[in-house]
Amino acid sequence: MAQMSTLTILVYPDKRLKKPALPVTTFDDSLRQTVSQLFLKMAEDQGVGLAATQVGLSLRIFVMDCSHDQSRPFCMINPQILSASDEQISEEGCLSFPGIYIKVKRANKVTVQYQNEWGETHTLTTENLEAHCIQHEMEHLDGIVFIDHLSPLKRQWTLKKLAKTQRLAG
Ligand SMILES: [Zn+2]
Repeated sequence: MAQMSTLTILVYPDKRLKKPALPVTTFDDSLRQTVSQLFLKMAEDQGVGLAATQVGLSLRIFVMDCSHDQSRPFCMINPQILSASDEQISEEGCLSFPGIYIKVKRANKVTVQYQNEWGETHTLTTENLEAHCIQHEMEHLDGIVFIDHLSPLKRQWTLKKLAKTQRLAG
C-alpha cells in the first residue's frame, strides 16, 4: 500500500488560513520531511498547489504541480515575485474551499525567486496556470484566500455555497 500523508487540509473559515506564515530559516531533514508530506497530500487530494498554511504550518513553503502526469513538481520556499505582467482572468479552485470555483484577476506571466528544500536559490519564469498557481499559493502564505478578491456580495454568496457543500459532505 502507498504511503499516506499525515497532514490534514484546513477548510475555510479556519482562522489559521488567515495568519501570515513565517520565513523558513533552517533547511534540514525535518523541513524536507514536511515538503514530501506536502507533495503527498497534494497528490492525494488531486490539487495543483498546496501551501503549508493550508495544513496549519506557519512556514513560507508551497508545493505545486500543474502538469497532468505529476511531471513538473516544484517546491518553493520563501518565494518572492520579481516581475509580473499581462493581467488575465483565471478560474481557480482551492483545496481549502471544496467545490468552489471562482474567477480571479492574476498576472499571466511571473518570474519568481525561491529556495528549494536544500536552501538553494532558483528563479522560474512561467505563465498561464503555473503563474496563476504561484500567485494563489503565495497569497496563502500571507494569510490571503482567493475569495478575498471578490466583492462583499459575491463573497457572501460563495460562502453560503461553501457551507451548503460542507453540509452535504457531512
Ligand atoms: Zn488555495
